[in-house]
Amino acid sequence: MATQPQPAEQRWEGTAVSAGVAHAIVHVLRDRFDEPEPRSISPDEVDGDLARWRAALEVTRGEIEALATAVKDEAGDGPEADIFDAHLLILHDHSILKQVEKTVREQLQCVDSVYYQLMCRHMDALRGLADSYLRERFLDIKDVTQRVMRHLRGEMLDTPMFEDPVIIVAHDLTPSDTVQLDRSKVLGFALESGSANSHAAIIARSLGLPAVVRVHEICSQLHSGDQVLLDGDEGLLIRQPSAETLARYRSREAREDAREDALAAARHQPAITQDGCEMEICANAEFVEEMQSIGDSGARHVGLFRTEFLHLEDPKADEQDLAAQYSAVLKAMAPGEVVFRTLDLGGDKLDPLMALEAEPNPFLGWRGIRACLQQPELFCRQLRALLRASVHGRLGIMFPMVCGVEEVREAKGLLEQCRAELASEGVAMADEIALGAMIEIPSAALTAERIAAEVDFLSLGTNDLIQYTLAVDRLNERVASLYQPTHPAVLRLVRLTVEAARRAGVRACLCGEMASDLELIPLLLGLGLRELSVAAGQVPRVKQAVRRLHLAQCEAMVAAVMPQGSSAEVLEASRQLARAAYGELMD
Ligand code: PEP
Ligand code: MG
Repeated sequence: MATQPQPAEQRWEGTAVSAGVAHAIVHVLRDRFDEPEPRSISPDEVDGDLARWRAALEVTRGEIEALATAVKDEAGDGPEADIFDAHLLILHDHSILKQVEKTVREQLQCVDSVYYQLMCRHMDALRGLADSYLRERFLDIKDVTQRVMRHLRGEMLDTPMFEDPVIIVAHDLTPSDTVQLDRSKVLGFALESGSANSHAAIIARSLGLPAVVRVHEICSQLHSGDQVLLDGDEGLLIRQPSAETLARYRSREAREDAREDALAAARHQPAITQDGCEMEICANAEFVEEMQSIGDSGARHVGLFRTEFLHLEDPKADEQDLAAQYSAVLKAMAPGEVVFRTLDLGGDKLDPLMALEAEPNPFLGWRGIRACLQQPELFCRQLRALLRASVHGRLGIMFPMVCGVEEVREAKGLLEQCRAELASEGVAMADEIALGAMIEIPSAALTAERIAAEVDFLSLGTNDLIQYTLAVDRLNERVASLYQPTHPAVLRLVRLTVEAARRAGVRACLCGEMASDLELIPLLLGLGLRELSVAAGQVPRVKQAVRRLHLAQCEAMVAAVMPQGSSAEVLEASRQLARAAYGELMD
């Protein structure tokens, strides 16, 4: 019998942003809110088209009712459950139903675009209104429309959208898209756009999943269910990998496993340089479920818990829900410390209300502590939840996107107010909570000594510090070559911050992605950093790197190259020390 020819493998190249290899089927996430193409239909098609739409409304109704029941079971009758009643009213709104049917019959246009256009007109009427009740209605209409459109296109909406583990293929993945995925089933990401410093890439590294960005035209060329191999080391996506390709990857995997085992054996040992300087290597986290892998990584503390992701998963979570999540994290890491960063929404992390009002320059706009100070209700809900959780472990709190000491004082004032209120309600709280400020805007680095006088630690957020110092958007691949962690201006700000912390007798940590870059560990040690917070998967490697270095050599290298050296020269000097000390870890 003749054998069927195997389809040839097909390769796409992109930019590798998170290491590792995955072999699985893909799930293509198309833009959720794709505008349907207007299409004329014949009079014969009208009834069938309307029947398809009614079926989509029906499935949507079932879906909303199921959600309402689940919420009522968990939280009882309350404002959460009311949301679903509002959604059902929108879904069954008579005037909308009649108008869609009339337009389809009279204009002979397919129902997808007629329904979509009508709902958009309702949304436009509410968009940007100051009244928060009406703005919420906008979100309700958007949510219902989105569900109906998905069903009209024959797609499922609710996560999990896939039964088997998959590699996610999408044009882009915002932080709010990421939190909606069933992460237990995701093995990797391949995106058409994106950059190494986007939060999708950061999350992939945190979860230890391979990710490749800037892979062109995969959304149109791949289909959900296609078999692919994703190589997050080389930046490759391979459809229908051949037997030879798979065999090559298997032997590479065996070599890497052996290396990982050797590293893992030492992961709980401290990171002490050859000449006796101890460095604390903490882990960054975004989700409660990561605590297990962080404990296994050898990190004793969480240096940065990005709380925005829990918020995006459930923007309406109340103080008690939040306190339960924060407590679970603290308990899992006890006696280690967990530094929770208060909400750093804005930029690319938009919650539904922020997404309503597009800003021309979101990274220079309503973001981080400034957005929190202007929304004291949201901010205090989080601060009270953190204070409630504080009895369950060792809590640190830090404020993001601080541009000067006044914001730190104002935030501290609100924290004290929350503490006083909770105390009068008889709530137990820890006496000692370490307070910190993130240094990620040049103005904060330049006034670090004033900020250091107000806090227990400073934490350098270099992902942002680099973009704000060099005026290079961290998400924009066109200017990616200008995004230089070793730029002399960036390094001066890092040094100013470390020195200000030392003079004030407070800790300084660096939790940006440059702390995970093995080439830069000699530079960071030489600049005086003694605490780094990195992706959990990198902890054993970074610790091992520190163990191979001599602090004195790192300091001498920095003293020699910093005064006059260009970005490239500093990078090369640090790279040389790294290669000489632990070249095999970097291959
Ligand atoms: C940073 O800016 O370096 C940081 C750690 O915060 P994020 O990446 O979440 O902005
Ligand atoms: Mg930041």
